[in-house]
Amino acid sequence: MNYHDILEKASSILKRYPLCNSCLGRQFALLGSNMTNKERGNAIKTLLFMKLIREKEGSRGQEQEIVKILARSGFKPAIDYAMSRSIKFKVESCYICGGLMDKLNVLALKAIVKLRDYNFNTFLVGSLVPSTIINKEDKLRAEFNLEYSESIKREVNREVGKIIQKKLGKVVDFNEPDVLVIIDLGNLDVKIEPMPLLIYGRYRKLARWISQSLWLCKKCNGRGCKECNWTGKKYPLSIQELLGAIVLKRTGGSKFIIHAAGREDVDVRTIGNGRPFIMEIKDPKNMIIDLKSLEQEINFKLRGLLEVFDLRRARREEIALLKGLSEVRKKRYRAIISITDTITDEIIRKIEENLKNRIIKQRTPIRVLSRRPDKIRLKKVYDIKAIKISDHLLKLEILAQGGLYIKELISGDEGRTNPSVSSIIGSSAKCLRLDIVEVEG
Ligand SMILES: [Zn+2]
Ligand SMILES: [Zn+2]
Repeated sequence: MNYHDILEKASSILKRYPLCNSCLGRQFALLGSNMTNKERGNAIKTLLFMKLIREKEGSRGQEQEIVKILARSGFKPAIDYAMSRSIKFKVESCYICGGLMDKLNVLALKAIVKLRDYNFNTFLVGSLVPSTIINKEDKLRAEFNLEYSESIKREVNREVGKIIQKKLGKVVDFNEPDVLVIIDLGNLDVKIEPMPLLIYGRYRKLARWISQSLWLCKKCNGRGCKECNWTGKKYPLSIQELLGAIVLKRTGGSKFIIHAAGREDVDVRTIGNGRPFIMEIKDPKNMIIDLKSLEQEINFKLRGLLEVFDLRRARREEIALLKGLSEVRKKRYRAIISITDTITDEIIRKIEENLKNRIIKQRTPIRVLSRRPDKIRLKKVYDIKAIKISDHLLKLEILAQGGLYIKELISGDEGRTNPSVSSIIGSSAKCLRLDIVEVEG
């Protein structure tokens, strides 16, 4: 498309429809870069106007018509020209946008004011454009066979993004922005949507009787009753609440979620190298967090209960990965168990020989049946060592595949777990205390 073709096409469009500079320029967006559609539209109108002045010797009727359509589309020099020559004309609003494209500056400033509430590094602009505008533009493009245009949304997003970038010194990030700026062109409104903040880390649960997530009292469903001592909770402490209080205060978020690679029972500690997990903070206000100092704050305030370390920002895909891997990751456990019979060397030998490198067939334990589907899983015990503490107490060190229920590996769970310590020694065995001492990976 050469320069004459552009002018030819532009004047035939303007003859039929008044267009603002942006909407005219956008129809030729792919021809030439480094200028805005607004500048491009203005340049085209300027050239049409210059051509008219040069070809003035043409018919007076033609001259009047071009001046009129340029003036109608709001082109200032044509308006002045028409007025000085008493040519009658009427300024009309843009056929496509009705003048909304002139409000991008106002919308960008609105966004900038709202963004002041957020502490962030990167952003991305998205937009809602009324379907009437999109339909009109589609129709126009079909009517004039316009192949070098771009979408109005793209223009809105880019132009608003440029203003924000310039005024706030923040960067556009197409993949993982901290905040989304949604421009509602039809309602001349702006919405800010902070993306959830994801922080990866590992935690050690140093005390027993802490649940991973908040566990509501089953009887009152959180309202508070006699059974739960009016707390509404089954367990007074949870990792979710302990961490959530600190993290939400730091980030100004509205909701705190824990995604972990599995979970330990309430009465089980996780020590050693800790359990990998990801904290999700919804609607954060502060997205620039010093993770080292957050770590220090958590570990100081929750000392004796919980410890976090290796904190870093995480990506959304890591959540599924973390959960998927927990089923296969090896875990090392330390258990103190009691046995009805007196512990002999023979019993120790039997346990070690029969469980080392053994596949365990395990049906969902009775105690979790109300929450989990009843199914059979095969999990491997890689290694097991037994050390006698007293006549009826034994310490077990177990290395097993993730997802194996250890308490049931010991008790046998009424035959639902096979083999088990109980079934091997032919005497009742019970887990008294359990710690997770290592989580692989
Ligand atoms: Zn327009
Ligand atoms: Zn209750």
